[in-house]
Amino acid sequence: MDSPPIVNGLSVDVEDWFQVGAFESVIARGEWDGLASRVEDNVLAILDLFAAADVKATFFTLGWVARRNPALLRRIAEAGHEVASHGYDHARVFKFDRKEFAADIEKARKVIEDAAGVAVTGYRAPSFSIDSRTPWAYMELAERGYAYSSSVAPVVHDHYGWSDAPRFAFKPLPWSDLVEIPVTTAILGGRRVAAGGGGFFRVLPYAFSRWAIRQVNRREGRPAVFYFHPWEIDPAQPRVDNAPVRSRLRHYTNLAAMADKLRELVHEFAWGRMDVLAHREAARAEDLAA
Ligand SMILES: [Zn+2]
Repeated sequence: MDSPPIVNGLSVDVEDWFQVGAFESVIARGEWDGLASRVEDNVLAILDLFAAADVKATFFTLGWVARRNPALLRRIAEAGHEVASHGYDHARVFKFDRKEFAADIEKARKVIEDAAGVAVTGYRAPSFSIDSRTPWAYMELAERGYAYSSSVAPVVHDHYGWSDAPRFAFKPLPWSDLVEIPVTTAILGGRRVAAGGGGFFRVLPYAFSRWAIRQVNRREGRPAVFYFHPWEIDPAQPRVDNAPVRSRLRHYTNLAAMADKLRELVHEFAWGRMDVLAHREAARAEDLAA
């Protein structure tokens, strides 16, 4: 008899087209308010896409976005999705010291909770920027009552990565139940490869993601964790012409095909909220120190 399918974690990192790490060097934070926001329309389209597939997900939202779009946050929560934190204005965790990080997550949580009207218990670091340089980040999250983090990319990448972190759920602190749920990697030719979404999902054929999620679900018996951004379904977004070529290539490839690919993905596999997944995975999370 077939066992029920593994429920994977579906997540959206809610930020606008001008807030991505790749454009940090050419668009200053001070310019953000003068740029045309497209995040609301894109998130509404995503809510429709999820509703049509009857899936629930987690929306890791920037405090900056929540402050300017409170009605959108309420709408996400009312549709049954989890609203969680993506930090205040997309500064990477390893750029902070411990105190600055604590202030950032507090500020973000307050504005997100006020907007959405629900408690925030999950956190995703901007650009998966929790790594071996930031051992205090988990202490701050645990002390502030977060249940889980999904802030680690256990892979080598030019913008991020904690290459020797565990690939699946782990408990980073011996004194806390806080659980980290890393974004999905697959093993290809004996090496870890990023397979949890973002640019990889958009740029590579859908068949790669299908293969990777099947490998994780069937061979390893674990849930996959997938993420994407609202701007990835928006081919009409303004072009940042002075950005580095490599960033532009990565940012603008296959935007028009993204919505169809997502539809295929959400229909082919079982998906749910990250808080539910974290709760389920906590029982078999390994200790980081072990
Ligand atoms: Zn982000």
